[in-house]
Formats: sequence, C-alpha cells, structure tokens
Amino acid sequence: MTGLVTVGETMALLSAPGEGHLRHQRSLDLRIGGAESNAAIAVRRLGTPAAWIGRLGRDGMGDLVESTLRGEGVDVHVVRTDTPTSIMVKERRPGGATHVRYYRRGGPGSELSPRDLDEAVIAGAGILHVTGITPALSASAAETVFAAIEIARGAGVDVSFDVNWRPTLWAATDATPVLHEIASRADVVFVGDDEVELLAPRADNELAQAHALARLGVREVVVKRGARGAVALLDDVLVEQDAFPVRVVDPVGAGDAFAGAYLAELLAGSPVEQRLRTAAACGALATTIVGDWEAAPTVDDLATFLGGPGVRR
Ligand code: ATP
Repeated sequence: MTGLVTVGETMALLSAPGEGHLRHQRSLDLRIGGAESNAAIAVRRLGTPAAWIGRLGRDGMGDLVESTLRGEGVDVHVVRTDTPTSIMVKERRPGGATHVRYYRRGGPGSELSPRDLDEAVIAGAGILHVTGITPALSASAAETVFAAIEIARGAGVDVSFDVNWRPTLWAATDATPVLHEIASRADVVFVGDDEVELLAPRADNELAQAHALARLGVREVVVKRGARGAVALLDDVLVEQDAFPVRVVDPVGAGDAFAGAYLAELLAGSPVEQRLRTAAACGALATTIVGDWEAAPTVDDLATFLGGPGVRR
C-alpha cells in the first residue's frame, strides 16, 4: 500500500520538564520535533507507511533526529550537512501557556533544495503532505516545497497542505501570498480557525472562509478548531466533528496528529466522517502527555479510547 511522504525540517527539541520560566529550570529534556515528521509519525502509529525527506547536521542532534524517526518506522531520506542541526526550546510558563523558541535561522532546513527530493519516493506515494512552515525558512526551502508539489501533481499524487502559519518565522504580508499559492495547488487543506482569515480575508465567517478556500480548487477544506473540534467542507457539504474531552497536558502537536490521522484514513479509503472522527480522537490524545508527537496513538490506543476497532491494517 502506498503511504504518505512529507518534506520539512525536524529539530532537536529541548523541553523544560516543569512549569515555570526557562531561567528557573535546571535541566531540559532532549526530544525531537517538526510539524512534518510529527505528522509522519502519527501516520505510522496507525500502521500506514510514511516517509520523511529533509536535511540534518552531521552531528549528534542530527543522529538523534534520524534514529528517532527510523525507530518510529518512518522511511528517512536525509541529506546530512556541515550546518548544525536546528534546535527548538519549549517551556511551560506559569499558568500553563506553552512558549516555543526556534534556533533554526540558517539551519539545515533553510538549506533544503529541490535536489534533495527523491522523485520516485514522491511519485510512488499516495499523498504528499507539506506545511506552511518549510516555505518560511528560506527561498530554496520554499522552492523545494513547490518542486515537491509539482512532482506529486505530475504523478497524480494527492497534495495535502497544513497551513501552519508561524508568525515568528514570517509576517502575514510575506506569508499570505505563498500560503495562498500552495493552498491553490492542494487537494486537502488543513487550516486552524485562527489562520483561516489570513487566506480568506473577505469572507466574514468560518463557513464562508472555508467556501472561499474550496473555490481555490481545494477538494477538502478541514478547519481545526482546537477544543471545539473540527469541520470539513467537501463537495459543498459541511461535516462537523465535536472534540473528544480530554485532560490537556501539552497542546503542541495536536494539529499534526490530527492531520496525520485524517490522511491515514484518507489513504485507507475511509469516508469523511470516519476521517474526521479518527483525526479528532488522535488530536485529543496528542494533548494528553508531554511531547510534540509522543502521544500520537497507536491502533490499539485508539481502539481503547474509542471503544471500537480503529484503523487496522
Ligand atoms: P498545534 O499547532 O498545536 O499542533 P493546531 O492549532 O494546528 O495545533 P488544534 O486545532 O489545536 O490544531 O488541534 C487539532 C485538533 O485536535 C482539533 O481540531 C481537535 O479535534 C483536537 N484537539 C485539539 N485540542 C483539543 C482539546 N483541548 N481537547 C480535545 N481535542 C482537541
């Protein structure tokens, strides 16, 4: 069965184990994180093949990222470079708000080049998944995303796009035209309820915004609404999914688990209602333990949570 392929930057993640300002921490946990590889892991956890294409430094952090992804069963296609692997630092401020700071300017992700793309891997996949983070890293990283999309479209492979606008990486004025351009080439678009206005500024409510995105030629527009669940607009029909109530420990990565699960179900040929239900369950579970991808559920976790068979392959 063909699976998902994605391209992007994965970083070493230094995560404060306790709540409080970073300056009061005495140690940091060493993990990894990156929106695209988080989604690839979520797909793998559900038993579906997933591949990641990227760049890493030729250093211990790069080894950590590569071995972790391989250990999760992700098919890794990596170029190792002399540029140090990028780092992300995550702290939970008093009151529980999560703050993320990147140390990635000029990092391996911004060196991504269309030459890094393995055409056979993309053309042989069922879905290419990209996010709005990679094109923010550099001109060549943006070129790489567009080149991957062209390969996929040329081979008849579905293109999935998670908007994932990161204001710390680029301002709305720079981001909007690029994100718009990628969305117009995608079959499936995931967009946060806090981002959708960026791409559909003239529409005055969420439904009108989703319709405006669909008019770009997007087959499935999926709006992620955090603790309010999600909606999908497909063939002019709106399908709503409530959130599953959970005790949130770490909200980061819910969107990646959600997108990965939705796409795993799409690859399995499941109807939209099931795609959304599995995605909402995986998104909810992803918030229940610390880590950007660690809580993405396996088939068994999901079956236990939903009390049903889950995606079994
Ligand atoms: P992130 O960027 O932190 O990964 P996101 O903003 O892209 O997340 P969210 O809307 O926060 O995405 O989460 C994706 C999905 O996960 C939601 O649509 C919802 O189904 C589920 N989810 C997220 N937060 C919660 C929550 N607190 N309770 C239940 N389900 C949640």
